[in-house]
Amino acid sequence: SFGPNIFIGSQWIPFKAAIDTHIHKTWSATSVINGKAINDYDADGKIHQLDSQAVRAPWNHEVIVGEVVYANATIAQQAIAAAVAGQGEWQAVSAAKRAAILRKMADLYEENYAELMALCQVEAGKTLQDSIDEIKEAVDFCRFYADEAERLDDVVYEFIDLAGKPSRQVYKARGTFICISPWNFPLAIYTGQVVAALAAGNTVVAKPAEQTSLIAHFAAQLMYQAGVPVAALQLVIGAGDVGAALTAADNIAGVIFTGSTQTAQRINQSLNAHAQVSGELPVFIAETGGQNAMIMDSTALPEQVVRDAVLSAFGSAGQRCSACRILCVQEEMADDVIELLQGNMAELIVGNPLYATTDVGPVIDIDAKRGLEAHIERMRAEPTATILAQTPMSASSEVSQDQATFVLPTAIEVKSIDVIGGEHFGPILHVLRYEARDLNKLIDAINATGFGLTLGIHSRIENTVEHIERRAFVGNTYINRNQIGAVVNVQPFGGCGLSGTGPKAGGPHYVARLMTLTTEQLAL
Ligand code: NAD
Repeated sequence: SFGPNIFIGSQWIPFKAAIDTHIHKTWSATSVINGKAINDYDADGKIHQLDSQAVRAPWNHEVIVGEVVYANATIAQQAIAAAVAGQGEWQAVSAAKRAAILRKMADLYEENYAELMALCQVEAGKTLQDSIDEIKEAVDFCRFYADEAERLDDVVYEFIDLAGKPSRQVYKARGTFICISPWNFPLAIYTGQVVAALAAGNTVVAKPAEQTSLIAHFAAQLMYQAGVPVAALQLVIGAGDVGAALTAADNIAGVIFTGSTQTAQRINQSLNAHAQVSGELPVFIAETGGQNAMIMDSTALPEQVVRDAVLSAFGSAGQRCSACRILCVQEEMADDVIELLQGNMAELIVGNPLYATTDVGPVIDIDAKRGLEAHIERMRAEPTATILAQTPMSASSEVSQDQATFVLPTAIEVKSIDVIGGEHFGPILHVLRYEARDLNKLIDAINATGFGLTLGIHSRIENTVEHIERRAFVGNTYINRNQIGAVVNVQPFGGCGLSGTGPKAGGPHYVARLMTLTTEQLAL
């Protein structure tokens, strides 16, 4: 919850109506190469004049939030060339100086919190609370990865050969990283990827999600203002085609990707195909989708389970990779839990994300809305599935369904996990009954989805919790609480299997994975 002040990073910040002073602004986004907006520049000194497109708010398409100029494959190549050329200089900057720049970024994010929050609300359709959380996480990433840069700089392994000559092994930068981020955490994940790579001494070509280019462009300006050299960070504004051009290019040391499993698979294929020709072996870090379950047994507190399941499934309009998609309820409790769930869902306020009381805002765009509604219709027609509840739009939300991309929060009872299909990235919760004697079969069925991101467990029996944690194949477990909102350096986050390659974002292995170890002989 939030009051007149919010706590961001390390300080209390006056909050009130500051955001509203920015809410009616319009912003613009273009690619930035060597510090120049791409419309002013190309490799031959010619001026590019690419068409701009209007950016419309997902909660009201009549509201134009700004304009964006999408890059093409030529610009992507230029961005890589610029980052590769800047690598030597950036990796020679001391870890202490890199860390200082990242900490300055955190300060600038805090100083500009009102504009950043306004952007999260208007461009990404985030609620007020989600926008607060977004800034906090981005700030945490800057400060944590700054600490990591300094910590890893102090990690030195020493060796002596038979002749008494010393060597040491130290962490070093790898080279240019492509950072491709999704729209659902348009500031936090985008910032986390970029600052981790910069902390490691790598130069970056950032390709944020096309749906949230304005936020990314504004944040990049703060990064340069904080002291990130223009050669160390190139910004490419564009869609998947431009992302594909970046990952198929020569001379990249690695790709950090967060997004859907399908896109990660495409990038992996592209990197493999490129390796066949170039012989290059870039590092690939993929943080992808989930089919996350919450398991409750008969010792759990039903009110708490339902509160946590509703927040985990419908918070952020279900657009979190960690979101609960399947609530697994022990048969004896099922009728009571479903009744509580229906009551709780009826209380949700679905509507305009600019209103402080809104719980569930819009989904990101029309494609997302169509896909989610198609799934609900498929489930309606499925003989083994039952729609349990669907929350209507709030009467006071003053938004039109035709002019926006709202999907009504929906709970659906299913008889098996298979019938759900893959990940449905929105406010849809499936409910599955299970018999206590079939707990192992349930865990195996969850594992059999191939995803392994988050798992919620509600039980007051320690042995049951331990048993489920041991048998389940997931990246993050949460006990007797909601299963979203991993905090940097508190719950290092990331999945396994179809959910990603690790290492965990916000944990002690992330920056190290972006570096390489060099053994240096110290005497002639
Ligand atoms: P997406 O895969 O459609 O797009 C992600 C990014 O990849 C965008 O920047 C997009 O432009 C780019 N892209 C698309 N095609 C590409 C290609 N062929 N080559 C290179 N880049 C390409 O995903 P999305 O819809 O933006 O995000 C939602 C997905 O992200 C969900 O599946 C969610 O679970 C996942 N996600 C995972 C995590 C995690 O930490 N595991 C966090 C957030 C979101």
